[in-house]
Amino acid sequence: MGLLDGKTALITGGARGQGRAHAVTSAREGADVILLDITSKALESVDYPLATADDMAETVSQVEALDRRALTFDADVRDQGQLDAAVAAGIAEFGKIDILIANAGIWTRSPFWEMTEQMWSDMMDVNLTGVWKSAKAVAPHMIERQSGSIVITSSVNGLEPGMNYAHYVSTKHGVIGLMKNIALELAPYGIRCNSINPGAILTPMTNQQGAWDMFAGHEGGSPDDLIAGGYSFHALKGTSFMPPEVIANTALYLNSDLAATVTGVTIPVDAGHMLLTG
Ligand code: NAD
Repeated sequence: MGLLDGKTALITGGARGQGRAHAVTSAREGADVILLDITSKALESVDYPLATADDMAETVSQVEALDRRALTFDADVRDQGQLDAAVAAGIAEFGKIDILIANAGIWTRSPFWEMTEQMWSDMMDVNLTGVWKSAKAVAPHMIERQSGSIVITSSVNGLEPGMNYAHYVSTKHGVIGLMKNIALELAPYGIRCNSINPGAILTPMTNQQGAWDMFAGHEGGSPDDLIAGGYSFHALKGTSFMPPEVIANTALYLNSDLAATVTGVTIPVDAGHMLLTG
């Protein structure tokens, strides 16, 4: 018996990183998955590679190894038409969608006064508007079924500032407000919505030169600088960058009946980071 037996989960940014962990964890607990990611297009303002078709194929093979089905879409959360088409195809294939994990996101850095309009608007379009569009795509179906669970990935930067990413911080605060409003508006239909605030998680978003340099405090940083910095980022003994499964486990709880009366809340999974800064 799995915690999500017979359910279908739509996961944005599902090809790699936390999205892959959500897919594999949901599948392990009995869910079929619909995976949506931007696997054939770059965003000019993002200075690290986004997911590839190979990343998506690897996630599918891990889901299928658990005897669950995966339907994939090379799609952009900025495009309502692509989201709506994925939802329609997912319902046609699996009969229903029970869960949305709005996980897709980008992370770039610049002092706010030097930030280009492109950096700002890409961040808003993916990390904030993309979450609204994802929820908009599934809401009518969930309302019709009078059931569903939506989990939104915020960040500790949804609760505190971060040096040189005012745009990211704005979106991650924004999705908490959005989460509360979705929770309020969908509660009468028996649909829940919550968010998670990850601390430092080891994924392709953070295991890259820009993040190595940030944690090193200078250019030419290395993965060792990242891991060393991760220990002081978190309060909990011996915890550097955490595996993405820690976030997937929290989403699993929120999406399962264990959390049947939990809605409108945000849960930091940050190894005590906020104790140091909050
Ligand atoms: P990641 O870069 O591995 O995953 C993000 C995924 O989103 C990628 O597969 C990417 O291709 C996809 N994506 C980006 N733009 C998209 C678009 N327009 N349409 C569809 N898909 C798109 O990084 P991750 O750490 O797994 O990030 C997952 C979420 O967690 C993000 O929302 C991120 O902001 C958040 N987060 C990450 C950390 C961390 O330390 N890694 C901490 C806090 C919050």
